[in-house]
Amino acid sequence: MAVDTKIQLSAELLRTLHRLHRQLADLRTQRDRAPIQIKASQARISAASAEVDAIKAKKKAAKMVCDQKELQLKEREARISDLETKLNTAASNREFSTLQEQIAADKKANEVQSDEVLEVFELIDGINEKLAVAEATLANEQEDNNLRIGEIEARQKVVQESLDRVEGELLQAETELPSVVKGDYKRITDAKGEEGLAAVEDESCTACNQRLTTQFIEGLRMSNLVRCPNCDAFLYLPANG
Ligand SMILES: [Zn+2]
Repeated sequence: MAVDTKIQLSAELLRTLHRLHRQLADLRTQRDRAPIQIKASQARISAASAEVDAIKAKKKAAKMVCDQKELQLKEREARISDLETKLNTAASNREFSTLQEQIAADKKANEVQSDEVLEVFELIDGINEKLAVAEATLANEQEDNNLRIGEIEARQKVVQESLDRVEGELLQAETELPSVVKGDYKRITDAKGEEGLAAVEDESCTACNQRLTTQFIEGLRMSNLVRCPNCDAFLYLPANG
């Protein structure tokens, strides 16, 4: 039965209970947002860190190419000096000119190779500049993250204190409920939270917009227990209603 004329329930108490439930819902939302904010902050560090790693990998690859080319350069230089020694002991003109051709070819190859090594050096310089920027970004993100976490934790502490206080206030207010309604009240507020109570405005339930008959409104005016015939919320008239 939606209107129980036998049970009296003060609108003021229901207003207080509803206000406390709304505050709790808001505070719990704030509390639950903190881990998401922390995760988002840490994701920014991960992204900056991945960027640094990617650039370092490029640098490592470029250095390997560079080392390889320098090694080839040295090997060829060693061969040139070897060939130059052989030049002095050449047994024939034919051998002499063959050695000279080999030396010329190796020198030419090393000129090209030296240019390539310079190109790789330039590439590494460019990579180093990008790396410096990425490392600075990472350091900033880490610093910002520490600040953000500090702010979130400070806010979280305030929210938790408010939660504890409002939960205490709610428990206190609930002791004023007539014992006969406590079970129903508990069931609906456990299931729906703040939606378990609703003010009546323009003769309608503000939780579900159900239009209420005169009988319901009259019941509310007489401080009877009235529940919404549609959503079951405990109904009350606003302070100015
Ligand atoms: Zn309703």
